[in-house]
Amino acid sequence: MTEKMNIENYKTDFFKIKKTSENIEIYVKKITWKGSHEFDISWIKTKKMKKDISDSEINAVIKTIVKEDNFFSTCLDCNQRILNDYMHNEKYCQACASKNHGVIY
Ligand SMILES: [Zn+2]
Repeated sequence: MTEKMNIENYKTDFFKIKKTSENIEIYVKKITWKGSHEFDISWIKTKKMKKDISDSEINAVIKTIVKEDNFFSTCLDCNQRILNDYMHNEKYCQACASKNHGVIY
């Protein structure tokens, strides 16, 4: 992950946007590791909005969630906000840990 992630990357990689008849619900990905390569994916519902919200408003909400420390952390190597579940430790994401710090996954 050397290229800077943009909002579309975040939406694709870490979020699920679900439209119901009344609302738009935003879910954040939750990874439960069962081994170094085995994991379960679940989704945490974080926001519920009226369905007439615009795409740019959805993006603004997602940007806010990305700034929240209970879901994302800043990797000191790539300087990006990474889902906590993809952090190797409190400093590096898993991609940087294996690329820059010799950690083998
Ligand atoms: Zn990183």
